[in-house]
Amino acid sequence: MSKKVIFSTNQKHAPGKRRCTFCTNQMKDIDYKDIGTLKQFMNGFQKIKNRYYSGVCLRHQKMLATGIKRARHLALVPFTN
Ligand SMILES: [Zn+2]
Repeated sequence: MSKKVIFSTNQKHAPGKRRCTFCTNQMKDIDYKDIGTLKQFMNGFQKIKNRYYSGVCLRHQKMLATGIKRARHLALVPFTN
């Protein structure tokens, strides 16, 4: 007798909902001077991480992008390696 294994198709990630870190911490705006936080959302090439990988919501991703760009302009964060 063979058992039928059913995989759920609409489950993209591992169990447990991924939530936006800024939403959970109830952060209304992202500080461009907070380099430590900004660097968490940048990859090894100093590029802004994709929303798919970071799990940030659209609203905060846009704020994060402007924050990183401002920090880059002020040379707080490098453009590239
Ligand atoms: Zn958010």
